[in-house]
Amino acid sequence: MSTRRILLCMAHMSGNEMKYIDEAFADNWVVPLGPNVDGFEADLQQFLSHDDPSRSHIRVAAVSAGTAAIHLGLILAGVKAGDEVICQSFTFSASANPIVYQGASPVFVDSEPGTWNMDPDLLDRAIADRIAVTGHRPAAIVPVHLYGMPARMDEINAIAARWGIPVVEDAAEALGSTYHGHACGTLGTYGALSFNGNKMITTSGGGALVCPDDESRARAIFFATQAREAYPYYQHEHIGYNYRMSNICAGIGRGQMTILDEHIAHHRHLAGLYASMLADVDGIEYHTCPMEDAESNYWLSTITLTPDAIARGLDPDTLRQRLAAIGVESRLLWKPMHLQPVFASAPAYVNGVSEDLFARGLCLPSGPWVTDDDILTIVNEIKLYLAR
Ligand SMILES: *Cc1c(COP(=O)(O)O)cnc(C)c1O
Repeated sequence: MSTRRILLCMAHMSGNEMKYIDEAFADNWVVPLGPNVDGFEADLQQFLSHDDPSRSHIRVAAVSAGTAAIHLGLILAGVKAGDEVICQSFTFSASANPIVYQGASPVFVDSEPGTWNMDPDLLDRAIADRIAVTGHRPAAIVPVHLYGMPARMDEINAIAARWGIPVVEDAAEALGSTYHGHACGTLGTYGALSFNGNKMITTSGGGALVCPDDESRARAIFFATQAREAYPYYQHEHIGYNYRMSNICAGIGRGQMTILDEHIAHHRHLAGLYASMLADVDGIEYHTCPMEDAESNYWLSTITLTPDAIARGLDPDTLRQRLAAIGVESRLLWKPMHLQPVFASAPAYVNGVSEDLFARGLCLPSGPWVTDDDILTIVNEIKLYLAR
């Protein structure tokens, strides 16, 4: 057994990052704007729209975190205090927290079993019910591509359009995932990306808001830079935020963009290994993309113990502890937001899917540092546990 720990998803540098940071220091651009911010935004825009003329209009605003990007997306979508916003329940809390920052209230919608993401039928019923209960249309919808797996965006967007509700797409985990030939992050009215330390690429901490045009991008940057009106003195007519990305972080981002394609390819390679090595293991299901014309980036690889295995007394947390004992980090799936104490009073439209996945599922290591041998080690330990 190796003494090296195998971690869930660790940041990995290309070697080009320091060049951009050195440039920033040489030119004294150590501020939240500058050539690296412009360059990183241009790189992201190119990545999200190349080979896809239908996305030539998108513009990117680099910000301090994915959470900030979601908040700005909600502001631009027109979410105001007192509004309700529909959010996928099966997600990380950062999808929902900005709804509360905005003075609005989250309404949670459960997942469908194929993608593990927002169930379109339940979404439709939830909207109709909220209008019946409150007399108001929810102000926005926040679907998530969990673990990089694309949500059923055609159905979600069609429902959103029918009700006239903007979509703020949480693509924090889905940089590099595609859906019907389009990049995740470009599928909603606004899209949010994250470059936190454990995501597909990192800027140490950071995010981006994907906007539909120049005007909305300028509006996002206005709110992200303290909402300063165009006067010779500081004039404020809106509450602003300090959300812009620094030129140093953006330098890391530009370096990371040089290896993004390799990162995505490696995550998918590892996913393929897990899938084939676990294919005939009784008691385990490896989660793959259920849709023909969509592809996950497999940010994290995820498995579920089958109901049979659970009935035999196996459980994901014991498996997690066994893996930890041999130096492998794994993590239970996200605990649904409608089960979180902090959101206990939020309305929730549930069907049992996310609760069931939370009880049976586990995230396995992926990313640039994980080797083929590591997958063998992990799969062998899983097999030993199942043979118990
Ligand atoms: C990481 C993450 C976020 C938040 O991004 P930060 O950059 O950490 O603020 C939002 N939603 C999901 C689903 C995430 O995984």
